Amino acid sequence: MVSPKYSRIVLKLSGEALAGSLGFGIDPDVVNAIARQIKDVVAHGVEMAIVVGGGNIWRGVAGSAKGMDRATADYMGMLATIMNSLALHDALQKHGVNTRTQTAIEMKEVAEPYIRRRAIRHMEKGRVVIFAGGTGNPYFSTDTTAALRAAEIEAQVILMAKRVDGVYDSDPMINPDAKKFEVLTYIEMLNRGLGIMDSTAASLCMDNKIPLIVFDLNVDGNIKRAVFGEKIGTYIGGESFGQRDN
Ligand code: UDP
Repeated sequence: MVSPKYSRIVLKLSGEALAGSLGFGIDPDVVNAIARQIKDVVAHGVEMAIVVGGGNIWRGVAGSAKGMDRATADYMGMLATIMNSLALHDALQKHGVNTRTQTAIEMKEVAEPYIRRRAIRHMEKGRVVIFAGGTGNPYFSTDTTAALRAAEIEAQVILMAKRVDGVYDSDPMINPDAKKFEVLTYIEMLNRGLGIMDSTAASLCMDNKIPLIVFDLNVDGNIKRAVFGEKIGTYIGGESFGQRDN
């Protein structure tokens, strides 16, 4: 039997991934479909942590552009990620997937606080851990959270779920000749300004040699394909770990 290529992963879901075609808010059908995909992966013994974004509800920069204090607007964004995380937690539990949510901002009545060792222990026991509330600090993003938590829990890869099937040199929705990259290094990604993740997140991944796979979440079974090493989407690594060995 084929076994998974990765045994411990971080899955990054943007807030928009939970919104489906609505473009905002939370679409329960979409969340259920994601939960089903996750169930299918953890059934193979893969340890999974999930970082959920909040852009479907609120983004700090948008608030601050309209005159709000940036830090306050960012705290609102972090709270948005907790709402999304609870929706995903609920869907996972309903699918029989043992799940624990840990928040970077303490909210004991709602979820556990973030405790690294406890998160690792949950995963070792086969539980999915959702990291909610971003890093707990304003001026950061949930992409940076994914990079930080992946380094902390020693994940082998970050799977970045998008609505396109990888990274292109220009927008494939606008330019029919846009070229898709199979493999990229973090340096290339930063130099080309491809906007897959912010530079703080990219630096953290690069410095800690954590590869990233950008793939289309809307294709059913894609999380499993990525975990089993099928060449889907775009693989991003570094000079020493940029080879796509799968
Ligand atoms: N945020 C923050 N610190 C963090 C993570 C998130 O301040 O460590 C805030 C920030 O305002 C951001 C919002 O939470 O705009 C939602 O997160 P993000 O934009 O990363 O969500 P996504 O784009 O993945 O949906």
